[in-house]
Amino acid sequence: PLDKDELGRSTWKLLHTIAATYSDKPSQEDQSNMEQFIRLIPKVYPCEICANDFAEMLVLLLIIDVLTYHPPNISSQKSFAKWMCEAHNMVNRKLEKPLFDCSKVNERWRDGWTD
Ligand code: FAD
Repeated sequence: PLDKDELGRSTWKLLHTIAATYSDKPSQEDQSNMEQFIRLIPKVYPCEICANDFAEMLVLLLIIDVLTYHPPNISSQKSFAKWMCEAHNMVNRKLEKPLFDCSKVNERWRDGWTD
């Protein structure tokens, strides 16, 4: 059966790693590809959960909302990684998990902790 926490951790790892390695000077094509990729996630993310849990369905609706009203900033690596962090924090808030300090997102997902 689908383990939603395991899937969530793996998905966030993929998303933050993609953001961490995104170009500093993305071409129009890079930006357009990334925008389409992000917008498709809520449409393809497995959602067995939503079918029987209204609260969790709200999280996915929230993500769609974030994408609509707070569209991905795909103009540079730094801004995209920050956007991804804020999107993850919106899910964290909904699930009552601690919020992540987005000034440390490249340290966590790109460069490695200094300590
Ligand atoms: P995760 O939240 O998976 O985080 C993994 C690691 O990322 C953390 O250990 C931390 O080091 C780092 N991290 C944490 N926050 C941030 C941040 N803001 N920026 C950068 N790095 C960070 N779960 C549900 O129960 N219901 C849902 O509706 C639901 N919807 C989801 C929708 C999407 C698109 C995704 C990708 C996941 C969803 N999840 C949902 C799963 C949920 O977000 C978690 O992945 C899962 O609960 C496991 O949490 P975790 O505490 O292990 O850490």
